[in-house]
Amino acid sequence: MAARLIDGKAIATEVREEVAREVARFEQVHRRKPGLEVVLVGDDPASQVYVRNKEKAAEKCGIRGAVHRLPASTSQAELLATVRDLNVDDAVDGILVQLPLPAGLDELATTDTIDPLKDVDGLTPASAGHLMSGRPGLRPCTPRGCMRLLEATGVSLAGAEAIVIGRSNLVGKPIAQMLLAAHCTVTMAHSRTKDLAEHVRRADIVIAAVGRPKMVQGDWIKEGAVVIDVGINRTADGALVGDVDFDAAKARASWITPVPGGVGPMTIAMLLRNTVEAAWERAKRAPQVVVDDLD
Ligand code: NAP
Repeated sequence: MAARLIDGKAIATEVREEVAREVARFEQVHRRKPGLEVVLVGDDPASQVYVRNKEKAAEKCGIRGAVHRLPASTSQAELLATVRDLNVDDAVDGILVQLPLPAGLDELATTDTIDPLKDVDGLTPASAGHLMSGRPGLRPCTPRGCMRLLEATGVSLAGAEAIVIGRSNLVGKPIAQMLLAAHCTVTMAHSRTKDLAEHVRRADIVIAAVGRPKMVQGDWIKEGAVVIDVGINRTADGALVGDVDFDAAKARASWITPVPGGVGPMTIAMLLRNTVEAAWERAKRAPQVVVDDLD
């Protein structure tokens, strides 16, 4: 069987169009645009590119935004003060602190300071707790993007065997929770997992989020499995490859994401979706103006 490609670019475009429509509707009702503010500390070149892409994508779908560029010498106290200012700014619906932070700054303390209602990256303990306990809330963008890609295949998730390779707070743990919520039987694998190949061979759904080029071999993939490759790795010759040996895996899978053009485009699209959803949720909770009966 030759796998069909899950076209992340096309699906991300669909999501952005949905977001643009939601933004217009929000603006019509609330007379303001949803706002997304990004905090970028230091001058890591990859982070600069990511932030520029987020800025452009937000603007394109009508989300108002600003990037707070802070020098690498910023102290923890200054960084937290910036986040707290954004927490209390009513025009701000989403706050994203671009990671990694320069050495010496505490990432957990920083993300923990974000108001959970504005946590569009879904990384605060409150957001993680909401996901874990099945409550509504803001979900991390990449895992949310993976779920949308799975949905696009039309493959039924209830009762499926899923394996998630990687257990980061950013990708592995949240996607495992989302798959569980979708009634998959979930195995979580990591660097200490024994016989990884055997676990993968049982899986109907394979999510690879490791960061090791072509680690998941083609003959590990069960015939007809759906493969979502989150990994982004640059090879010595400058090519981008995923964590899965794509050419070999596509001969066995039913659906597979390419790298690039699979999960990658979904992350920003889901950031935009989270921002507009955060805006609606905050507007719903804002104190209502009560017009007193003057008699
Ligand atoms: P991470 O924090 O470095 O986590 C990697 C995980 O892989 C860890 O849980 C680690 O296990 C596990 N691992 C390492 N070696 C392994 C092995 N030999 N067998 C099984 N598991 C192994 O990485 P991340 O942030 O989750 O990102 C993973 C990949 O996704 C990276 O390539 C990253 O660039 C990519 N990514 C892409 C997007 C996107 O938008 N497409 C977004 C985020 C990340 P331990 O916990 O035991 O160390």
